[in-house]
Amino acid sequence: MINYPKIIEELGNIKTIQNLEEVKKLSQDYYYFSPILASILQDKTADLVVIPTSEKEVLKVAQICVKYQIPITVRGAGTGNYGQCIPLNGGIVLDMTQMKKIHWIKSGVACVDAGIKMSVLERETKKQGWELRMIPSTYKIATLGGFIGGGSGGIGSINYGQLRDRGNLNKVRVITLEKEPKIIELKGDETQQINHAYGTNGIITQLEIPLAPTYNWIDIIVTFDDFITSVKFGQALADSDGIIKKLISIHAKPIASYFTALKSYLPKGENCALLTIAENSLYPLQELVNEYQGKITYQQDLSKENNINLIEFTWNHTTFHVRNIEPNITYLQTFFFTIDKVEEMYNYFGDEVMMHLEFLRVEGKAIPAGLQLVKFSTEERLNEIIKYHEKNGAFIANPHTYILEDGGRKKIDIEQLNFKKIVDPYGLMNQGKMKAWKNN
Ligand SMILES: Cc1cc2nc3c(=O)[nH]c(=O)nc-3n(C[C@H](O)[C@H](O)[C@H](O)COP(=O)(O)OP(=O)(O)OC[C@H]3O[C@@H](n4cnc5c(N)ncnc54)[C@H](O)[C@@H]3O)c2cc1C
Repeated sequence: MINYPKIIEELGNIKTIQNLEEVKKLSQDYYYFSPILASILQDKTADLVVIPTSEKEVLKVAQICVKYQIPITVRGAGTGNYGQCIPLNGGIVLDMTQMKKIHWIKSGVACVDAGIKMSVLERETKKQGWELRMIPSTYKIATLGGFIGGGSGGIGSINYGQLRDRGNLNKVRVITLEKEPKIIELKGDETQQINHAYGTNGIITQLEIPLAPTYNWIDIIVTFDDFITSVKFGQALADSDGIIKKLISIHAKPIASYFTALKSYLPKGENCALLTIAENSLYPLQELVNEYQGKITYQQDLSKENNINLIEFTWNHTTFHVRNIEPNITYLQTFFFTIDKVEEMYNYFGDEVMMHLEFLRVEGKAIPAGLQLVKFSTEERLNEIIKYHEKNGAFIANPHTYILEDGGRKKIDIEQLNFKKIVDPYGLMNQGKMKAWKNN
């Protein structure tokens, strides 16, 4: 039995939250997009939330967790989708959002604390002509540490691939939960040991991240009569090296009918492409749109004041908007690799699985990846849909599990497991999420 009043006393000046309601709120994420996870995780909560403001304070929390063998779950903004930062066995939730210092930005690299919001960081990098290489659609509130811990890619992935691709993370500082917790630094390939490890093997306190040159970006909506034509347009745009873009998001009818704020531009929920294109690429984009008989219904310069941000209708924000109207809709995460595969699944499932695609670069090649919307009936049917995709050559990163290896990875990451053995020998971090550790 852990004596929390004593723990709070030992934490001294470090901020804590004990109020049950607040603790519960800070123990949750967006797990409920999955009806499967919703039923498993809804009652899980921490015993105490601790909010450090410096690396020194994180080190102290780590020492106390080791001393009293307290489970610890690191949390950024809690926007993860798979219960990534939900503590399964109580203990401490370590809220990193007050660790938000920008140490420096120079020569296309930023060095920051892990709890910084990506939007805040970008505001600063843009002053020097840089931006983040990729951001999730939750970038306004999500933290950079949480993106590395739990995210995969997003807006910008059409140019820079995924977070795990070599070169997208330079360096991290990590606090261990060894007998004597300490600070270590990982550089280059070494950072893969903690990249997308759900905070199971060390607390990231600081990151050095390479940036991308920024442009004057324009949001554009293009509509198409035929869905497969919109996919072909997406692929052609993705492959057009001379057109500078950072978002190619394709939506089959009737998905856009759920986008209430875009109603004037998509009155019939048309098949559409939501794009972010550099201003200096507008002319060739128009030529490509003409080639595929699309129609531009919206165009907005993002440097000007406006209420619409197309990013927030793409990636998993699409699911968010649809669920606001139909809460029984859930989603999949699929790598299709080819347009033929998209067409096959589109025709096979019809309205039961609505096709939402994001183009991104995988191993140097632009491919369509799906965040399809599924009309949920039963868990058996959902698994049947997943199996059908897998049997027919599409790769599913299952969003209906909180287990690290059962999601996108499909196999044990020996490097991450071995790193955990060193830095978290008591298995205190985000317990129950790494299958390899459970089976160890
Ligand atoms: C509507 C919606 C849209 C989304 N769109 C995208 C998208 O486009 N792309 C994408 O990749 N994801 C997306 N996500 C998932 C999520 O928003 C992002 O991955 C986001 O970057 C997570 O950041 P966070 O600060 O909220 O992390 P959290 O959810 O707080 O944490 C995520 C994981 O990282 C770990 N973690 C957090 N901080 C640290 C740290 N300092 N050290 C070690 N581990 C840590 C946590 O323990 C947890 O396992 C979306 C989610 C929603 C709900």
